[in-house]
Amino acid sequence: MLLFLIYHSRVSEIQLTDIVESGFQCINSVTIFWCISVIAFIFSKDTQKLEGKLVEYNNRLMIQANTDILTGLYNRRKAMEYMEELSHKSVGNMGFSLCIRDIDFFKKVNDQYGHDVGDEVLVKISEIFQKEIEKGNFAARWGGEEFLLLFPACNGDDARAKLEKIRSDIKELQFHAEETDFRIAMTFGLAEYDFINGLKATIKEADEKLYIGKENGRDQIVF
Ligand code: GH3
Ligand code: MG
Ligand code: MG
Repeated sequence: MLLFLIYHSRVSEIQLTDIVESGFQCINSVTIFWCISVIAFIFSKDTQKLEGKLVEYNNRLMIQANTDILTGLYNRRKAMEYMEELSHKSVGNMGFSLCIRDIDFFKKVNDQYGHDVGDEVLVKISEIFQKEIEKGNFAARWGGEEFLLLFPACNGDDARAKLEKIRSDIKELQFHAEETDFRIAMTFGLAEYDFINGLKATIKEADEKLYIGKENGRDQIVF
């Protein structure tokens, strides 16, 4: 535009016919348009790439925020979020069953074989819980050596049957440390979602049942 304004008012040294002048103007316009298009394309490509990276980074952060580092299961934060979601969906619908499980005499494993072996046990049993996630259920590390399992659209009796299988799978796991083999067991507290008293009351009920199981000899499901 600047060049056009400067040279427009001057008398040309070479006289061009109107057609040639129009031709040059046409070529100029097309060239400028092409340059702007190329620059815009390059910048938009960079922006798209950056946006893609940002989305990927956000997804990674989201997964990290919801995952327990040691076991790879969901963490307590995600469990609470998911249970809130399920309890809202459950209104006027079929509820869900909630189970809190705790390893029996886990302190002994740590004391006898060391913390690393204890960690191995946590990882190994989490593989069994991970399979429940693949089946459409929900499993999380509730804290320490306690885990939470949710069975959506499942009553307590059906959940209990599924837990019996999990309980026996856990008991079949064999661990090896300091030239000895050992096995572990877990106690389970199971509750059906309480529509009237809500989520907190359901968690409390499962916790109390777990405690009853511990008091009554462990290695059992209390419903
Ligand atoms: P109970 O049958 O009554 O549940 O007995 P327990 O020994 O399992 O229960 P207690 O609560 O006394 O011990 C739990 C132990 O779990 C104590 C703690 O050191 C251990 N623990 C918690 N988190 C971890 C972890 O991430 N790794 C390891 N190795 N141990 C852990
Ligand atoms: Mg415990
Ligand atoms: Mg324990």
